[in-house]
Amino acid sequence: MVDTTQTAFWPRAIALVDMNAFFASIEQHDDPALYGRPVAVTNGLTGTCIITCSYEARACGIHTGMRIREARQLCPELVQRPANPERYAQVSTNIMAALGEITPDLEVFSVDEAFLDVTRCQRLWGPPPQIARLIKQRVFRVSGVRCSVGMSGDKTTAKYAAKLQKPDGLTLIPPWQSRARLRDVPVTELCGINHGIGGFLAARGVFTCGDMARLPISVLARRFGNPGRRIWYMCRGEDPDQVSGQVKPPQTIGHGKVVPPDTRDRDLLLTYLLHMAEKVAARLRRHAMRAGLYFIGVRCRDGWVGDRFRTAIPVNDSRPLGGLCQTMLRRCWRGEGVFQVHVVALDPASVTGQIDLFAEEHAQARRRNQALDQINERFGEFTIAPAKLLRRSDMPNVIAPAWKPYGHRQTIPSTRPRRPPASGKLPELDW
Ligand SMILES: [Mg+2]
Repeated sequence: MVDTTQTAFWPRAIALVDMNAFFASIEQHDDPALYGRPVAVTNGLTGTCIITCSYEARACGIHTGMRIREARQLCPELVQRPANPERYAQVSTNIMAALGEITPDLEVFSVDEAFLDVTRCQRLWGPPPQIARLIKQRVFRVSGVRCSVGMSGDKTTAKYAAKLQKPDGLTLIPPWQSRARLRDVPVTELCGINHGIGGFLAARGVFTCGDMARLPISVLARRFGNPGRRIWYMCRGEDPDQVSGQVKPPQTIGHGKVVPPDTRDRDLLLTYLLHMAEKVAARLRRHAMRAGLYFIGVRCRDGWVGDRFRTAIPVNDSRPLGGLCQTMLRRCWRGEGVFQVHVVALDPASVTGQIDLFAEEHAQARRRNQALDQINERFGEFTIAPAKLLRRSDMPNVIAPAWKPYGHRQTIPSTRPRRPPASGKLPELDW
């Protein structure tokens, strides 16, 4: 039989592009002395937890989440690098722009992953194997980073395929082979099937994707609704989910930070909370949104202490939030040692069409915020900030996995590549 995998057009062709050890690869690219060496990226030089590491480090058994001290025992020559989120955001933006030139049907899945529906551009770029190679070339050209590409007829099988060969992999599963290829794969290996759903399926005798053929789709539909139906099709290699470039409106906008362990200084806690409030307000403004309901809280040894608070009207100005932070500390906090602070806007909504009832007072705040945002956008986050934030931590931000180069998830300005200060002061995390 002739193998048409390399030359045939596919009825549906979807690629998942996954950058290999993304942050560590960028560090190696930016400093060629690190090529071929085990590199671990941490939150500043004082960070103790490994955010990601190079393949050379992985070969020694080092992995994300491991403590740096433990990692050094496995691999004494490990090089520690402070995370540089602005740089990673910049590279991600460049990669996504390059992928967008291959097809506009692009879904940015995370900071280092994207789905491309190339079904409609096979006449332009050639059959899927050729497009997969093109993707790898383009990504490498704009970033110097290698990626793994999985290509199949649906998103789930493409994502599964991308995992099979790393780093620098290319795995093709033509749609007509998907069902057979997934038959013996455990259901929990598919993206989106967590252990909860896995347990539900196991109780019904479904362990592998092939087992799903014996379970009526109605059983999943009754328990999980439409997502359940989708899971049933996913196991057949027929995930119906479309590649969608639309960023869903945010349900919440929040910022949190890990603070020096056991902080009990009220003023300092208030500063940390105000810092988060300022970030939330700036992000609301950037997306022309306001919110009237906020969660404000601190995490102590026994869990979160805090509450939901309402502003008189929906706002995107940090000043009313400052009052709420004070109220929270007065009402909810009993002086316990604090480990994290968090401020979340719970009901963000677009500003458009709202009537400003207190026009004059708001006009003043709006002008002030506009000037603030323009300066900070141009010269960097918190170039200008309220004086009360002077004692805030200056540790670098850490990029969240869900970061996207556009839309509401853009929490790190990507315009200004800049190294964070090498001498971080506090062991903090930002997400
Ligand atoms: Mg990756």
